[in-house]
Amino acid sequence: MRAAVFYGEGDIRVEDQPDPIIEVPTDAIVRVVRSCVCGSDLWSYRGANKRRGPLGIGHEFVGVVEDTGSEVTDIKRGDLVIAPFTWSCGTCPECRYGFQSVCRNGGFWGSPGSNGGQGEQVRVPLADGTLYRVDGITEQDTDLLPGLLTLSDVMCTGHHAAVSAGVTAGSTVAVVGDGAVGLSAVIAAKRLGAARVIALSRNPARQELARAAGADDVIAERGDDAVAALLETTDSVGVDFALECVGTEQSMSTALGGVRAGGHVGFVGVPHGSAAPMSTLFSRNITVSGGVAPARAYIAELLPDVLSGAIHPEIVFDGTFALEETPAAYAAMHERHVTKALLIP
Ligand SMILES: [Zn+2]
Ligand SMILES: [Zn+2]
Repeated sequence: MRAAVFYGEGDIRVEDQPDPIIEVPTDAIVRVVRSCVCGSDLWSYRGANKRRGPLGIGHEFVGVVEDTGSEVTDIKRGDLVIAPFTWSCGTCPECRYGFQSVCRNGGFWGSPGSNGGQGEQVRVPLADGTLYRVDGITEQDTDLLPGLLTLSDVMCTGHHAAVSAGVTAGSTVAVVGDGAVGLSAVIAAKRLGAARVIALSRNPARQELARAAGADDVIAERGDDAVAALLETTDSVGVDFALECVGTEQSMSTALGGVRAGGHVGFVGVPHGSAAPMSTLFSRNITVSGGVAPARAYIAELLPDVLSGAIHPEIVFDGTFALEETPAAYAAMHERHVTKALLIP
């Protein structure tokens, strides 16, 4: 098969790889019909983490089950499935509490010994616990595939930011981060009934996407100026909820500075050097909650709204590339020409 391989900073190649096979009876083999590049893949691409290639890469994919191991019972050959961005057993205590993303038997696509999602096929460990079958939809329903693909990660992650913060109907919400997760958080906050969602973005194309996602207002300032703008637009009170969708120290301090006393910050940006200052939380009674989103837990809730068109998370895909063009897809996202690149094998 053909698959993208991460070699190192700025070095993604599409190569021939051995076709995956069933290795243990709980595996399934999935033929990928859509995958994409994630903002967190860019951290590797930019050399911002310690990942060392060659390794498969990509963790968001939708596909068709080609084969199953003898102990796989819920998933069948021919099923159209969504793969969350981690695999999980579905039966351990963490999974039963609804935190499949920290499953004690789970793992990450593209880790040593596993396939990445940016390829033609993937061996899926713990297939019954991991894969979410979508009934009544086939790979020919091409208009629906991008929306389904967002349930691998970004839409569920944006939803997790809103759920972790506890967004309520009628509230005011600020979303820090204008990437695909931030845009998804805007959709999630509106879906949960927020009366006013303020997106922080200084990029005109992203501002337009944020408004399409449902943002009522856009603030272009960054850092301390963004905090000042949030206070100014809320009568010096601050927003009820801030959703931190970047993972930098600046984005977290913007979220903490812009939320009102007693407010809540939901955070889903992978922390890169950010630490919550306990004295700020203490002095202003701010709650911070969030973490790695349990996408598997949220698909059932969000899928009907994707299928009905009640929400349109597929707007995050503003660039489409063939699998062979994966290096160009990374470059386009790195240079911010594209928010999120859809890959078609
Ligand atoms: Zn992702
Ligand atoms: Zn588990």
